[in-house]
Amino acid sequence: MQPERKPITNFYTPPEKIKNDRVLIEGEESFHLAKVLKFNKGEIIPVVDGLGNKYKVVISNISKKCVEGDILTCVRKENEPLVNITLAPALSAGTKMDSVIEKCTEIGVNAFIPILTDKSLVKLEKTNKAQNKTSRWRKVAIAAMKQSLRSYLPKIHEIMEFEQILQKTPEYDLTLIASLEPQSKSVREVFNSQNKYKNILLLVGPEGGFTPSELEKAREYKTVSVSLGPRRLRTETASIILVSQVLTLCGEMS
Ligand code: SAH
Repeated sequence: MQPERKPITNFYTPPEKIKNDRVLIEGEESFHLAKVLKFNKGEIIPVVDGLGNKYKVVISNISKKCVEGDILTCVRKENEPLVNITLAPALSAGTKMDSVIEKCTEIGVNAFIPILTDKSLVKLEKTNKAQNKTSRWRKVAIAAMKQSLRSYLPKIHEIMEFEQILQKTPEYDLTLIASLEPQSKSVREVFNSQNKYKNILLLVGPEGGFTPSELEKAREYKTVSVSLGPRRLRTETASIILVSQVLTLCGEMS
């Protein structure tokens, strides 16, 4: 066995590739380990399964197609927040959602639900394009999980209509909706009155904002409108700031 290299990222393999204390790493990940980083048999690498397990693995066989190894130790939920945050950002054009998924995975989001709102400029519905996007976002989330040294891979849900996500709000202890309405509270105010939330849903609107009728409907579902300050932020900036504020107030950013 050789000493562990430092500093490196975690490597990812899906849970079904881990059996009887043996780990199999394939595809881009084994290529990267063998060809790019030139790892050798006997070296120790950190491997995460995206379910919160981080293994110390000693390489027993390595080629660009497949890396095999034996598990030495396992830690649970390393670097994972105690609070579960689901971010539901409105779909936006281009690759902005990639950037939201990348940054918010790094910060500590546990699930993403892209939403279609009245003013979403994208109309994907359930086409192949939507499927392609979801698998691309999953790749972005895997890369961000590895690089931020997380052990949990955020789930990327299928695109939902705004109305559908509102129906899901009872599954959460708290739903915040980022809104520029004058009656919006600061996130701190919301957490001052209670901060024992375990499951939080965050809704962020598209470039054109939520419509008054969407905001009205959201209130019927007991969502809380929150302000992110007097400046109008782009939707991707609003997502990053909202997640950061919530995790800060939950004591997860220090
Ligand atoms: N054109 C819209 C602004 C949309 S900004 C309007 O003038 O109303 C895109 C989304 O980011 C908004 O729907 C909201 O969810 C969020 N957002 C941006 N800046 C914000 C702020 N200062 N406070 C709260 N939410 C904000």
